[in-house]
Amino acid sequence: MAETIYDVAIIGGGPAGYTAAIRAAEYGLKVVLIEKSDKLGGTCLHVGCIPTKALLFNAEIWDHLKHAAEFGISFGEGGIGAPTLNWAAVLQRKNAIIAKHAKGLDFLMKKHKIARIEGHGRLSGPAREGVHSVEVAAAGGEVSQVKAKNVILATGSEAKMLPGLKPDDRILTNIEILAMEQVPKSLVVIGAGAVGMEFGSLFRTFGAEVAILEFLPRVVPVEDEEVSKEITRLFKKRGIDMNTGAKVEKVEKTKTGVKVTFIDANGAMQAKEAEKVLVAVGRAGRTGDLGLEKTRVELDRGLIKVNEAQETAEPGVFAIGDIVAGLPQLAHVGAMSGMIAAAKIAGRPFRPVRRDRIPGCTYTEPQIGSVGLTETQAKEKGYEVKVGKFPFAGNSKATILGSHDGFVKVVADAKYGEILGVHILGPQATELIAEAVSVLELEGTVEELMFAIHAHPTLAESLLDAYGAVEGMAINA
Ligand SMILES: Cc1cc2nc3c(=O)[nH]c(=O)nc-3n(C[C@H](O)[C@H](O)[C@H](O)COP(=O)(O)OP(=O)(O)OC[C@H]3O[C@@H](n4cnc5c(N)ncnc54)[C@H](O)[C@@H]3O)c2cc1C
Repeated sequence: MAETIYDVAIIGGGPAGYTAAIRAAEYGLKVVLIEKSDKLGGTCLHVGCIPTKALLFNAEIWDHLKHAAEFGISFGEGGIGAPTLNWAAVLQRKNAIIAKHAKGLDFLMKKHKIARIEGHGRLSGPAREGVHSVEVAAAGGEVSQVKAKNVILATGSEAKMLPGLKPDDRILTNIEILAMEQVPKSLVVIGAGAVGMEFGSLFRTFGAEVAILEFLPRVVPVEDEEVSKEITRLFKKRGIDMNTGAKVEKVEKTKTGVKVTFIDANGAMQAKEAEKVLVAVGRAGRTGDLGLEKTRVELDRGLIKVNEAQETAEPGVFAIGDIVAGLPQLAHVGAMSGMIAAAKIAGRPFRPVRRDRIPGCTYTEPQIGSVGLTETQAKEKGYEVKVGKFPFAGNSKATILGSHDGFVKVVADAKYGEILGVHILGPQATELIAEAVSVLELEGTVEELMFAIHAHPTLAESLLDAYGAVEGMAINA
């Protein structure tokens, strides 16, 4: 039988890889997806976006129940019938959500006639006569060769560890923390990016004493400064011990938990003890065992350099998702980079990823949603900047929801009124930001948006007020 030569072989079945596979198949290409796990979905589905957001939704419900009296709902006198948390059931629900979507991905692969091979994929070297060879090592040890005209690398990332530390039942990464059998009484979180802040928020809601340590001078450092400042204040109000400018020196185990020693912002040595510590200090690209040394693929601090079509320096080899240098490690960026690579391979038109059009969402309480330039970035780029800010305290729907912390901040160009960035801290910010993405994509101006009718009463009206605020004309504040 003649050897199969695929149009494209994809290594890694996370959101970047499976999206690229589906889109390539939709273009009529012959596709094979190589994934070392028996389940598709990668970090995002199994130990990232989906399980964290499932647990954060449980936390939101729990929070509503705790404040039920505010809404005129009580659970009986003297606490009889008060809500109790069944953590095992919470985890079971999370796992059922993951299983459902993993099955959905299996279905989509079959629907699009995408071949699947289970095993560790590695490039065998440069292409010969335009055909690449990928060596696939199955868990059992058997090795096979897959031939394809193009290869897309989509092997994702894993949690970085502090030097000398290994994850276990007390020193946790995103993987171990999602499998804990109980809510810890106390938790130290090292790193205040989206992952650290979300877990801190989540376990605080479930009653843990939480301390967050961040090396940089502010939390969620990619967000607008005002967002960092306000969420710090709100986290403190929730009883979270916030420490910025904190340089962790040592993490050691004690009899009952862990002790984290750090130099604080004033240069003083301090220590925090807790039952568990979460290390959330960033993610390293899985580029180590891909056979890249035999190719022209170039790396930048362990991540792969690509051009705007996601092509590496090795002809016919593409890279997408978390392993790519210079892009935020987000599932939606991975998926879009996969669609771009597929379009390029199929010879179809595409639009490259624009960094200033990527929404960033942090699903804390309250949430953060942002897109475009921060006020500082816009000024650094030479814009004369005008800012409009509207507090959720003035929005009637936020009051109905009992959730009026935060604000919408619009950063606009003073000359033409073009909206350059939108930064939301508050209820449903991760949903509201979709409007701002469209506004930026369509190069909307304050003048136009001030006259766009927003339904009443909705949280989205706060965007209308924030556009107006750029001209000093918010209605509700
Ligand atoms: C706790 C947490 C929460 C997050 N929440 C969000 C969120 O809310 N929103 C968001 O946008 N992003 C979120 N992220 C980031 C998101 O998970 C990643 O950006 C996304 O998973 C990257 O997709 P990917 O396909 O590049 O890689 P991955 O999802 O890591 O998938 C890579 C796949 O490749 C496989 N693989 C690796 N090496 C090989 C090999 N050599 N051969 C075969 N297979 C291989 C792996 O088994 C894996 O299945 C979160 C991350 C974490 C850790």
